[in-house]
Amino acid sequence: MAKKFVFLFEEGNKNKKNLLGGKGANIAEMTRRGLPVPPGFTLTTELCNYFLSHGRKLPKDAYVQVRKAVRALEKKTGRKFGSKTRPLLVSVRSGAPVSMPGMMDTILNLGLNDVTLNALARETKDRRFALDSYRRFIQMFASVVMEVPHDVFEKVLEKQRNAAKVKSDSELKEKHLEKVVAEYKRIYKTRTKSAFPSSPSKQLDLAIKAVFNSWNIKRARTYRRLNGISDDLGTGVNVQAMVFGNTGFNSGTGVVFTRNPANGKKELYGEYLINAQGEEVVAGIRTPKPIVKLKKEFPAVYARLLKIAKRLERFYREVQDIEFTFDNGKLFILQTRDGKRTANAAVKIAVDLCVEGVISRKDAILRVSPEQISMLLHRQIDPDAKVRVVATGLAASPGAACGTVVFDADEAEKRGEKGDSVLLVRPETAPDDIHGMVAAQGILTSRGGLTSHAAVVARGMGKPCVAGCGDVKISPRRKQFTVNGITVKRGDVITIDGTAGRVMLGEVKTIEPKITNEVKTLLKWADAVRKLGVRANADTPKDAKRAREFGAEGIGLCRTEHMFMEKSRLPIVKKMIIAKKYGARRRELEKLRPMQLHDFFGIFKAMDGLPVIIRLLDPPLHEFLPNRRAIAREISKLEMQNKPKELEKKKALYRVVSDLSESNPMLGHRGCRLGISHPEIYEMQVHAIFEAAVKAKRTGIKVKPYVMIPLVGVAEELRVLREMAEKVAKEVMRKTGVKFSYKIGTMIELPRGCTNAGEIAKYADFFSFGTNDLTQTVFGYSRDDVEAKFIGVYMDRQIIRENPFETLDQSGVGELIKIAVKRGRGTKKDLDIGICGEHGGDAKSIGFFHKIGLKYVSCSPFRVPVARLAAAHAALGAIK
Ligand code: PEP
Ligand code: MG
Repeated sequence: MAKKFVFLFEEGNKNKKNLLGGKGANIAEMTRRGLPVPPGFTLTTELCNYFLSHGRKLPKDAYVQVRKAVRALEKKTGRKFGSKTRPLLVSVRSGAPVSMPGMMDTILNLGLNDVTLNALARETKDRRFALDSYRRFIQMFASVVMEVPHDVFEKVLEKQRNAAKVKSDSELKEKHLEKVVAEYKRIYKTRTKSAFPSSPSKQLDLAIKAVFNSWNIKRARTYRRLNGISDDLGTGVNVQAMVFGNTGFNSGTGVVFTRNPANGKKELYGEYLINAQGEEVVAGIRTPKPIVKLKKEFPAVYARLLKIAKRLERFYREVQDIEFTFDNGKLFILQTRDGKRTANAAVKIAVDLCVEGVISRKDAILRVSPEQISMLLHRQIDPDAKVRVVATGLAASPGAACGTVVFDADEAEKRGEKGDSVLLVRPETAPDDIHGMVAAQGILTSRGGLTSHAAVVARGMGKPCVAGCGDVKISPRRKQFTVNGITVKRGDVITIDGTAGRVMLGEVKTIEPKITNEVKTLLKWADAVRKLGVRANADTPKDAKRAREFGAEGIGLCRTEHMFMEKSRLPIVKKMIIAKKYGARRRELEKLRPMQLHDFFGIFKAMDGLPVIIRLLDPPLHEFLPNRRAIAREISKLEMQNKPKELEKKKALYRVVSDLSESNPMLGHRGCRLGISHPEIYEMQVHAIFEAAVKAKRTGIKVKPYVMIPLVGVAEELRVLREMAEKVAKEVMRKTGVKFSYKIGTMIELPRGCTNAGEIAKYADFFSFGTNDLTQTVFGYSRDDVEAKFIGVYMDRQIIRENPFETLDQSGVGELIKIAVKRGRGTKKDLDIGICGEHGGDAKSIGFFHKIGLKYVSCSPFRVPVARLAAAHAALGAIK
């Protein structure tokens, strides 16, 4: 038997989404349930795939099946394609298994030609209406099927409006519309080099092919790539008998949601237009009326609609977005689908439906995506705001901010202190920009990726950041940037959207974040099902406190270098690095010790008994010093000014910076390598940690200090440094007479660390995967540069599917992680293993960490609620 490519609506059901598309399956379900749905049929997604893989040809049998379905439709409606008395007119719509904006638009009134036009005019006793339907059909068919630009037709309408001296199309008279139709047909012929097809069957064949073709247009492909939708799904085509909302003032069309999609309130929400066809509601040419007015204007239609809406929501156990038309007072439902909603509404609806007993807690948890939680924690661009995007970079840290542009950190700080809203714009940020980042509302960089300094620090602070925005050409010296021919100067206002990576000119309206009781409830439900612990990457007592408020169960990574960057400390750190003699260096370190002690104490206090993992110094030392080129410039200036003393100082600094410079600093003198070659730095830090633990204990605070050694690749590195830390612990205990427990462990962030994890585990009480460095070293990609250079091209060309710095590369980096877990636990069965790279806040990566049995993930405080929900999704098997 030939394959079935065409299903009448009564032959499908809601479970056939993959075959019939979401729209087709839902229409079929409504038909089966006896709802007032105009009859029709659906062409399958399988047929779409056949068409696309066979040189854009349909199998002969498909034509036969379509004809048969048309005949069935003719019988059911008592109408016929091309009839001189009762013509059958249909709508043609695409419908993929998942909602896919960007696909082909709807075609209405298919079946009209010069003959059926007259029939329709006679039947409705309204030639104007028939002409209007015809001109709409030609316009839609030409632009959708034949890709004739829409505005060509708009110009014709405009000309007629001017000739008739009217403002809207609905005021055009028959004689004008006759002219419009004639002109449209002429345009069609010149543009497509063929006459407008008069045979309804031919019209239908062409429309079907156009829908299938639209599966592969660029817009649709891009949407699929961005949303991780498979290219193999294909789309269905729905052909449905027309009902008319534009037959007069007793007809209309509209859209309703069963609950308010903006705030989640339980109320019928939507709008309608009297005497209009579907696309007019969407097109926004006429202003629709709110649905409550329908209750007064057409009480019977409203009552029926309300009843159907309730029934559909109960049946689908989800908010429905329903399209309806009433034709001379008779209500028809054209389609229903799960309603799109704001993040805020998503949470409220999920919790409400669960409390109402409609869905289970498990369903409620799964109804909200981790990204939606992220949106609720940050200021967002108002979805109704008009935006003009001038450039797009990496969505490096979520949230939206507007402010005046400044190009250096000092100015950001100065203006910020005065209460100005500023955005810090830099080619990239460095550790000594921190004070400016603190003062700014958001950060925009033209270089650097998702794990660049700007991105990591901004995420930690919960500030919006657009990074690696290559189109923005920044000149910090001239204090301006140019983008696509536009120059933005210091003091101009721009808006950035770190959730989508967009840069906009001027001030764009934003909306406040909102953590409602429903959000708290949902996250509590999530906590009850997740297996993974969630900790935070936090470097200051303030961040630690916030992390705890967001639900963190400890600190998974405290990057101690961030404490060195504080404005009052940086000069001491610089002196310590520049010091030539050991004694001088020790002196500076002794100044830093009480400062670090103070911070550690603050963090212990905020976490009160929860684990706190403190990582010893990691970045290469030159990062704390000014840039070599900048010093060289200052040297030339001083030479001209004849200032020998200052000149000598600068030259000495230049020598130190030159000595510390490396070709590949991220692969160089950093992490535990520094700890081994300059033991006094790590000794000071370990002292400060343990002294803070003693102070905390004495104050009655419970402490769990974990000392973490970064960048270990050779077990001996850890053995040596562990010995040092244990010695310091003993000394502190002896001196203070206070005993405390502690743990010493390491980051696993190098391939050798993974393969040799069995050996390394001998000296480690815990492991924490540094997936940022691990991704960098496994791929051989520089984490600071690649995203601005080629990752975009790689993704466009599908050489890689995902940015590995954003979503963990499971087949490469993930395999090494699995090896490390196996070998580490082979040595110590209960080895405590977590992850603290940026992937710890990424939902898909969290699914992987759950699967391989890690104990916890650690991420920036603002990602903690996101990770809590994602970990629950992972435990419920929803993240593959
Ligand atoms: C990592 O490498 O994943 C990590 C957490 O450390 P950092 O980003 O500070 O190098
Ligand atoms: Mg690292």
